[in-house]
Amino acid sequence: MKGLRYLGRGQARIAKMPVPETKEGQVLLEVAVSALCGSERSDYENGCSFVSGHEFAGIVRETNGCRRLKAGDRVTVNVLAGCGDCYYCRTGQPQFCRELHVCQGGHAQYAAVPEECCIPLPDYMDFEAGVLLGGDTLGVAYRAVNKIRPDFGRVAAVIGAGPIGLGVISLLKYYGYYAAVMEKNQLRCHYAAELAGADEVLGQFSDTCPGERLGELTGGLGADVVFECSGSPLAERTALEIVRPAGTVVFCGENYKGLEIIPSDHIIHKEVTLTGAFYFTRNDFYGLCEIYKRGFDPKTAVTHRMHLDKAPDACSMFFSGKTGKVLLYRDQTCRTGHGTEEKWKD
Ligand SMILES: [Zn+2]
Ligand SMILES: [Zn+2]
Repeated sequence: MKGLRYLGRGQARIAKMPVPETKEGQVLLEVAVSALCGSERSDYENGCSFVSGHEFAGIVRETNGCRRLKAGDRVTVNVLAGCGDCYYCRTGQPQFCRELHVCQGGHAQYAAVPEECCIPLPDYMDFEAGVLLGGDTLGVAYRAVNKIRPDFGRVAAVIGAGPIGLGVISLLKYYGYYAAVMEKNQLRCHYAAELAGADEVLGQFSDTCPGERLGELTGGLGADVVFECSGSPLAERTALEIVRPAGTVVFCGENYKGLEIIPSDHIIHKEVTLTGAFYFTRNDFYGLCEIYKRGFDPKTAVTHRMHLDKAPDACSMFFSGKTGKVLLYRDQTCRTGHGTEEKWKD
């Protein structure tokens, strides 16, 4: 079969490789579509020995000692697999499990996937929607937006309009918020306004004063909620400065470097609620299915659809910030098809 290899130093190529063998409790999935994710950046830059890709959907071709799934089932893959036994796994929050595994291998024609990571796709959902709703881009965005108390006001600031930020904006618009976006990349500003439906783009947070405009929008109070989706320490500090007293800040962008804040100014005297969103759960997926049924369009964050064979080009554009979400297809017909086997094969 063909699969994508990350070679390091920003090089990638399509390689021939054996179809993976399943272990007990796994299915062999014929992948229909996979999505590039920003969290693959370190694999892309440093190289890795396995096939990357954790956002994908396809058709079960074989099962090995599985209880629920059978050949022919259409599924999307939930990236996380917990131990199944600890407090967090039993309460439906496997992202906090200490024995967390991440399901990889999606950027290939076939992948061996634990049965517990496969979520059957409802009949009304095609593979493309399945990847987007079942992947962490909208999953994290949905989890982040659900951190807001429903009685909150209506002006939301979003810092960073990469794929997660675009997902947050589209969900905020679905829920009726006014979404003001801060982003320094011009193309992403365009995507935020044109694809995700942001109400306005305030420009780069480091060279303008978004707080003034947010003050105009809110009678001088500041943003009711701020979603930080860039992971930049400066942006995180800005988030805490532009949120209004008693507002909420949600961190989505990863930052392992650290952050300088002044707790008295930023947290205590404003009584700010600061929280984060880490991955997402099966329940989040089912919540997304409900709003999808009512008209939420998950495809607004997608800017490029390319064949797996073109994945090296797709990677170089994606990881240099020239795209929104990028989908990699195995076959042209599955692009628009509902995802029935007949349409998808050949
Ligand atoms: Zn991801
Ligand atoms: Zn566990």
